[in-house]
Amino acid sequence: MHYHYPEPIAKLIEGFSKLPGIGPKTAQRLSFHVLNMEEKDVLFIAKALVEAKKDLHYCSQCQNITDVDPCYICNDKTRDPSIICVVQEPKDVIAMEKTREYNGLYHVLNGVISPMEGIGPEQLKIKELLVRLKDEQVKEMILATNPNIEGEATAMYLSKLVKPFGIKVTRIAHGLPVGGDLEYADEVTLTKALEGRREI
Ligand SMILES: [Zn+2]
Repeated sequence: MHYHYPEPIAKLIEGFSKLPGIGPKTAQRLSFHVLNMEEKDVLFIAKALVEAKKDLHYCSQCQNITDVDPCYICNDKTRDPSIICVVQEPKDVIAMEKTREYNGLYHVLNGVISPMEGIGPEQLKIKELLVRLKDEQVKEMILATNPNIEGEATAMYLSKLVKPFGIKVTRIAHGLPVGGDLEYADEVTLTKALEGRREI
């Protein structure tokens, strides 16, 4: 009979294998690493996983990930509600906030149109965006999706969809590394891309 790992470690390997980018070898390495960690650190990770899943949900307004509703940004009365910056992912909000130049609101699509991966507009938070744009105080929508094929296609789709609303639609300037993600752009580049945005 072949030797098998004891059930608890087999389960741990199976658990890590469910994460994106983690193959069987890495899952095995992580599992044995966990066994050598201090118990308090293991408990910290376990608790963080369970609590993140339990406490986090989408903001009912901007669809960003949040533990309060509306989120801190939507609830911040010092921010300009006449501008909505549309981004792909929650991490893009973090990237934009780091510039300290933007003081409007956000809308997180939580994905991007990608026919290759079978992701269409209906799988993104677009319905929720249209509801927000009907509010008369919104004057501008900045399209800050990534400067790659999917990001451009999504920006074009949204600009056409929103045309009838009579809102100024702008696209952040190029100068961002082509094919790069917003999250990898440094603050200066991102600030310039934002300042150089053009109406489309
Ligand atoms: Zn929000």
